[in-house]
Amino acid sequence: MSPQTIYALASAGGRAGIAVIRVSGPEAAAALTALAGESSAEAQDHPRRATRALLDDPGTSAPIDDGLVIWFPAPNSFTGEDVSEFHLHGGPAVITGVLEALAAMAGLRMATPGEFTRRAFENGKMDLTAAEGLADLIDAETVAQRRQALRQLEGELGRLYEDWRQRLLGALAHGEAGIDFSDEDLPAGIEAAARKDVAQLERALADHLKDKRRGERLRDGYHIAIIGPPNAGKSSLLNQLARRDAAIVSSTAGTTRDVIEVHLDLGGYPVTVADTAGLRDVGEKGDTVQGSGNDEIEAEGIRRARAHAADADLRLAVFDGEAWPEADPATVGLVDDSTIVVINKCDLAPLAAPLAVNEQAALAISALTGDGIEGLLETITERVAALMNAAASPAPALTRTRHREALEECRAALGRFLALDAGAGTPELAAEDLRLAARALGRITGRVDVDDVLDVIFRDFCIGK
Ligand code: GDP
Repeated sequence: MSPQTIYALASAGGRAGIAVIRVSGPEAAAALTALAGESSAEAQDHPRRATRALLDDPGTSAPIDDGLVIWFPAPNSFTGEDVSEFHLHGGPAVITGVLEALAAMAGLRMATPGEFTRRAFENGKMDLTAAEGLADLIDAETVAQRRQALRQLEGELGRLYEDWRQRLLGALAHGEAGIDFSDEDLPAGIEAAARKDVAQLERALADHLKDKRRGERLRDGYHIAIIGPPNAGKSSLLNQLARRDAAIVSSTAGTTRDVIEVHLDLGGYPVTVADTAGLRDVGEKGDTVQGSGNDEIEAEGIRRARAHAADADLRLAVFDGEAWPEADPATVGLVDDSTIVVINKCDLAPLAAPLAVNEQAALAISALTGDGIEGLLETITERVAALMNAAASPAPALTRTRHREALEECRAALGRFLALDAGAGTPELAAEDLRLAARALGRITGRVDVDDVLDVIFRDFCIGK
């Protein structure tokens, strides 16, 4: 059964200078002819070049737009199928006019989210990691995210896994030869060589997995929690940070005592800073209204603050400079080497030494005047960059839990293979472990039984991609 022809607006909705509508499938040429009339022949004579075209509604012959059309004959197109593209003026009535004309044509239907990319994958235009790289590139908000996504789109990660899989298939072939033929028929040392290669691969995999989740972190953003006692100036600090040019999204408020976040671009790295409820022992202080339920709400806020602090990649512990050197014990208890210690309100009075908590040197700032904020941002950026580069190797980073799970499965199978004694007379078992390991790698790139993961991956795309 030949696939249906699909169409969709490939550019974002709303008014814009131009809009692009993409049509892919066997009826792509017919759609081009129906809308572009005579210009369609010229476009088809010049594949992959823009041709100016007056676009008319095929039903009424009413003009819709004066635009450009491009013809991409299969297999040299994004999807690998025949594709025609309509570059229109980006007004809602123009876009609707073309979409309605396409909808009225036989054999055409609106694409579902990610369907163009899914067809590209199914036609061998890209592997799954490249498709994910494309989705990440569209979502990239910072330079480092863009760099990582582009590398993945260009196939770096896919090539690494495919190379590993080929090596495993090589070892597997040797193992199976060992099952099928008696020892005398095989060159000596072949099994030892295969084992050595598998052992090397297992080490490479272990290193690849020991990456401090840098690829995943770069996709999701690096999480920082601001913690500290009430009134230390946590909200003021968050506002200071959000006001910087670095802020790429304004603050999104949750409920009063929930967590408030701002998203920053620090040196190209996406960072999410969360303000959390003030830490203290609820019920000891008298400033909550008795019996109003406020204590309960505050206790829940503190519980969330602690959970957030525990999950964060880095903590900013804010202490009240007015009370210094008396430091809030609930916050001191959370200071470790993943914490930057900040003493706020340094505008009020000189701070008494030592400027440190739990041996972590403290930075003096004023969230009111902005003193020390620049230095704090530098310190945060250094910490983030250090973490992202800690495992930096020429090899690309894995970027999704899906990759990690499959790699761990692969590694476990290799571990079982290596644990079997060489020459122990269990070649069938050994071959099965190698097969499982190769299959786990194949699932990442989409070489083997991936139907179940396809829906999950392409669902995250928008329509028209
Ligand atoms: P939070 O409860 O930790 O979020 O603290 P807030 O940010 O709400 O600040 C508590 C109080 O301290 C407010 O009245 C702020 O104006 C004040 N404050 C915050 N930072 C500073 C500072 O650096 N210097 C001075 N003098 N006051 C500050």
